[in-house]
Amino acid sequence: MVDAMTALPLVFDAPRRTKPPRHLADLTREEARVAVTELGHPAFRADQLSRHFYAGVTDPALMTDVPAAARQDLSAALLPGLLTPVRHQSADGGRTRKTLWRLHDGALVESVLMRYPDRATVCISSQAGCGMACPFCATGQSGLTRNLSAAEIIGQAVAAAAAMASGEIPGGPGRLSNVVFMGMGEPLANYARVRKTLDALLTPAPHGLGLSQRSVTVSTVGLVPAIRKLTEEGLNVTLAVSLHAPDDELRNTLVPVNTRWNVGEVLEAADAYARRTGRRYSIEYALIRDINDQPFRADLLGELLSTRLAHVNLIPLNPTPGSKWDASPLPAQREFVARLRAAGVPTTVRDTRGSDIDGACGQLAAADQVDGVPSVAVPVPAVEEAVPLGAESDQA
Ligand code: SAH
Repeated sequence: MVDAMTALPLVFDAPRRTKPPRHLADLTREEARVAVTELGHPAFRADQLSRHFYAGVTDPALMTDVPAAARQDLSAALLPGLLTPVRHQSADGGRTRKTLWRLHDGALVESVLMRYPDRATVCISSQAGCGMACPFCATGQSGLTRNLSAAEIIGQAVAAAAAMASGEIPGGPGRLSNVVFMGMGEPLANYARVRKTLDALLTPAPHGLGLSQRSVTVSTVGLVPAIRKLTEEGLNVTLAVSLHAPDDELRNTLVPVNTRWNVGEVLEAADAYARRTGRRYSIEYALIRDINDQPFRADLLGELLSTRLAHVNLIPLNPTPGSKWDASPLPAQREFVARLRAAGVPTTVRDTRGSDIDGACGQLAAADQVDGVPSVAVPVPAVEEAVPLGAESDQA
C-alpha cells in the first residue's frame, strides 16, 4: 500500500546554493543593455549577443558581427556556458534524444527532445530534484537540490531548438515547436524563473524562441496560489494538473501537496484559468495497478470533470527503482478510458516514447555523481502527444 513508501517532507523553498554565473537570459533586454554598457561596450551589442544566444550560437568566434576583440570579453561576461552536456541517449532511430546536463555546481538535470512527423517537443527541467515528494516519481523521491536559474531552464530549450535547426536529429533541419515543463522539478515552485522562461519561449525571434502559447505546457502538482498567479499574468499557455486521484484520501498519499490544497481547490483554480483563457486544461493521471485504476475511481473522476473544461491524459505508470507499483494492465486502462468517455470527458492515453532510454515519466536519470552533488532522477513525459486508445483523439 501507499504507506509502505518512504514518506518525505514537502519542500517549498529551495536550498540556497551558489548562484550560477550571470547570464544574458536572466536579464531583461534593458538590463542587458545596461550590463553591456558597464562593460564598456555600446548598448546594441546586447541585442547582438541575444540574437546569437537564441540562435544557439555558443562559439564566440562565430559572432562575427561583434568585433573580434570584444567577443571573448562579452561572451565570457554575459553568455557563460551554464549547461555542459554529459551525454546524449537516443531512441526511436534518433528521433527521441535525452540529454544529461551538468550545471556549474555539478548538479545534474535532463531534457528530452522528441521529434514527430509534424512537430518537435522538448521536455525541460525547472529544478534539480523536486520537493513535492510524490512517492511514484523517482525525482520526487530524490528530494530538492535547488531551483534552476531562468538561463539554465531557457538554455535547455535553446539547445533543443539548435539541435533541430542543425539537422542533427534525423528528418532533416527542422524547428522546435513545443516545450513542456515535465522534466525534473515543480515549475510553479520556481515561479519567477519559470515566468521569465515563458517570456523567452514566447518572445518572437531573434530575441526569443517564438513559440506559440498553446504549444507551451506548464505541468504542476497543483500549487493553488501559483496557479492563481499564473491566471493573472494574462498568458494562454497550456496548463496541466497532475491529479492522479479523484478523491482526497488517495491523493493525499500519491500527491502529498494535496494535504495543502485538495482536489476541489486545485480544480477550482484550474477552472479559473480555463475561464480566463478559454482553453481546456489537461489532467495528468498515472494509472497505477490496483492503486488508482479501479472502475469506481474512473467514475468519480468522470463525475468531477464532466462539467469542466478539461481533458484527461492517462499515463501508464513507469515503474521506478525500488517501487513495487506497476502500470495498470491494458484491460484496466481500457475500462478506465471507456468510463471517462462515457461521462463525456475527453480522454487520451500517453504513449511511452523513450522508455528504452529511461526517458519516460518518472524514470531514473543519472547514475553519475558529479562534484559531490548527489545524482538525481528525472521524470519526463513519454510524449506530450496523447495517443488515443480508441479511434478518436480529443487531445488539444
Ligand atoms: N512537477 C510537475 C512536473 C512533473 S513530471 C508535475 O507534477 O506536474 C510530469 C508528469 O509525470 C507528472 O504528471 C508526474 O506526476 C508524472 N510522473 C511522474 N512519475 C511518473 C511515473 N513513474 N510514471 C508515470 N508518470 C509519472
